[in-house]
Amino acid sequence: MSDLKPITGQTKLFGIFGYPIAHTLSPLMHNAAFDAVGLPYRYVPFEVAPDRLEEAVKGIIPLGIRGINVTIPHKEAILPFLDQVEEEARVIGAVNTVEAAGGRLIGHNTDGRGFLESLREMNIDLSGRRVLLLGAGGAAKAVAVVLARQPISEMAIVVRAAERGKALADRLTALSPRLKISLWGPDVQRNFTADPGRPTLLINATPLGMKPGDPLPFPIDLIDSRWSVADLIYRPLETPLMAAAKEAGARVIPGLGMLLYQGALAFEIWTQQKAPIAVMRQALRKALLP
Ligand code: NAP
Repeated sequence: MSDLKPITGQTKLFGIFGYPIAHTLSPLMHNAAFDAVGLPYRYVPFEVAPDRLEEAVKGIIPLGIRGINVTIPHKEAILPFLDQVEEEARVIGAVNTVEAAGGRLIGHNTDGRGFLESLREMNIDLSGRRVLLLGAGGAAKAVAVVLARQPISEMAIVVRAAERGKALADRLTALSPRLKISLWGPDVQRNFTADPGRPTLLINATPLGMKPGDPLPFPIDLIDSRWSVADLIYRPLETPLMAAAKEAGARVIPGLGMLLYQGALAFEIWTQQKAPIAVMRQALRKALLP
């Protein structure tokens, strides 16, 4: 990666609000992108404690900050402090990108569309797909809302706690009444019917696979070579689920793609320019390679 351009009186500021924030890869990805397209912009991490979020948001416009990403734990909490929230972010109930334009703060959510882009780059056709979604947390919600608007045939949400899953299932039913949605407990075999030849997309939106020794999030023997398997985890770059799915001959969609494209979409909202995907991917891979 090139050396960072110097900060001058012309520099415009972007950043990310989170708590904690030390783990974030977004500064590496966005600063590399700004440099690649020759913009005098810098992107920094802001550690914003939950009880200081409103104050921090109020500072964005007066400080002249042009754009902010939002991560855990602020994605839902930030909504009431914004002037406008785009439709998809409203439906998801979370914002990951704030655009400061004309003295107003506009909230977007690029997580779900970032995931869709990661499928598109792998040429995954969603028509008639059965989707098996593991988890019903923040990432699962963003992905599920965007997928519910695609021509998939059905979605099964696999959860430990029925309540969280039911809230998501109800939201999706309201959004897409034609979609067949079911809620499964962790004992997947009780509900699962093998349907050879049926195109299935399995998505791991749980943290299972981040830590060495984690159990697999799904019984691997159910996966066949016609499946596509997406793991939202990007640290490690390849999880045991991805490795096992590859072994079974399935197409594998790594979580790095969603991370990359949610960032690329934010970049495009802020700059109105096409994101330098290759540069951003390289910055992420360099940081994540063991
Ligand atoms: P979250 O809001 O905490 O949700 C986690 C979900 O996983 C919940 O449904 C939770 O179930 C379930 N879960 C947690 N531990 C589990 C276990 N041991 N067994 C079964 N289910 C379990 O987290 P999140 O923000 O959605 O993140 C989920 C994963 O996606 C993380 O690995 C994160 O790194 C990844 N992610 C990736 C991207 C990307 O750009 N690639 C973006 C966001 C997140 P309960 O409700 O029962 O607790």
